[in-house]
Amino acid sequence: MPFAAILGCADARVPTEMIFAKGCNELFVVRVAGNVLGRECLGSLRYAVAHFPKTLKLLVVLAHAKCGAVTEAVDVYLQPGRYLEIATDHSIRSIADQILVAVRVAASPSNSSTVTRLSLSQTAGPPFWRLPSS
Ligand SMILES: [Zn+2]
Repeated sequence: MPFAAILGCADARVPTEMIFAKGCNELFVVRVAGNVLGRECLGSLRYAVAHFPKTLKLLVVLAHAKCGAVTEAVDVYLQPGRYLEIATDHSIRSIADQILVAVRVAASPSNSSTVTRLSLSQTAGPPFWRLPSS
């Protein structure tokens, strides 16, 4: 029975169980690109809380460095014209829109040092949701 429910990013390269040195079914793991908390993810976490009340002691949102989803959202914020690249893809746009809320908050004048940090942390590689050109 899981003692922790963890919301992690789908593009993280290390399995969550490995990070915490736990085996299968010792953690309740929900992974989605950019850690966005959509209805399905929230429902999954609520399921864990409702079905493991005796063992579940912890809810964790586990972020990671060089997140492709966050990087793309920051890129779109800094270059709004890039939004057109994802505008017609509802599933990708949904992820970006949810992350952009946090990016805009981070970019507010009272958080100016945060947006600088975000823009400097962008990776050089392609975002995870772009398919390689053929
Ligand atoms: Zn990520």
